[in-house]
Amino acid sequence: MIEVKNLVKDYGGHLAVDHLNFTIEDGQIYGFLGPNGAGKSTTMNIMTGYIGATEGDVLINGHNILEEPEEAKKCIGYLPELPPLYVDMTVMEQLEFAAELKRIPKKERKSAIGEVVALAKLEEVQGRLIRNLSKGYRQRVGLAQAVLGMPPVIILDEPTVGLDPKQIIEIRDMIRELGEKHTVILSSHILSEVSAVCDHILIIDRGKLIASDTPENLERQMAGAAGMELLVKGQEEEIREILEAIDGAEEIAVSESGEEGVRKVTFQLMGENCLEDGAEEAEREESEEREESEENEDMNIIP
Ligand code: ADP
Ligand code: MG
Repeated sequence: MIEVKNLVKDYGGHLAVDHLNFTIEDGQIYGFLGPNGAGKSTTMNIMTGYIGATEGDVLINGHNILEEPEEAKKCIGYLPELPPLYVDMTVMEQLEFAAELKRIPKKERKSAIGEVVALAKLEEVQGRLIRNLSKGYRQRVGLAQAVLGMPPVIILDEPTVGLDPKQIIEIRDMIRELGEKHTVILSSHILSEVSAVCDHILIIDRGKLIASDTPENLERQMAGAAGMELLVKGQEEEIREILEAIDGAEEIAVSESGEEGVRKVTFQLMGENCLEDGAEEAEREESEEREESEENEDMNIIP
């Protein structure tokens, strides 16, 4: 179990992590979701002991990452945003070097390396220099290195960024497999990326935790309301009539836009699939209008 308590990282007056609190339970896959600059990498770097915090504590299975770094770090395998790989080493040399750093006993190294080579499907490239590997393979070497020694917690910072769709699917499958035996935390700025593999999603923005829930619940909440704002040329009554015909369109408000004959329209689309339904309806209305517009030119939706 990991406890993050009141974590703060202050970069010269800029709070990259702003009083963050959360708990990671054993045996689940967690997604750390947030836009670029949200503070995901900073938080992961603190959790893994790469950098210190300004305030707050991180406990890994009860060990404080600052006070008992050796004990705490033993529990974690980390794949940082930029995997620490030596491009002049072969895949095997890199993994042997990592095994040494992780102080895996000599007689266990061969089987420990064999295990992660199989997991990351690196058999074919074992003897190749890392500099000659594709981005996808390099990421797999980074992943193998993180998992080496089978620590109970695996932390992966944007593991699929920059990969092509086939490589993304391969990495996702590996993450799912890891999730069977390990607690996994991975970060991404793409919702579909984390909802594809995670049991639980933590959303952070500007260093703060703004949501924590299952992917299903979060998607339901997000589908629950989509705010729309349109500029529409036409009369208020006509605009209202069209919008009121859309299933799920609520809180319709029409006001002057400042431009003559153009009105500002805001409304909420409620319910599941509301965006698609709304879009289809709008398209249908538009094509009907197009037919009508031979005689009547005064109703145009300005995107
Ligand atoms: P994310 O991984 O979510 O994209 P980061 O944790 O990398 O976000 O960054 C969070 C914020 O902290 C950003 O505004 C970033 O510019 C800032 N930041 C990150 N590292 C440093 C640093 N070493 N010095 C100063 N500011 C930093
Ligand atoms: Mg990052």
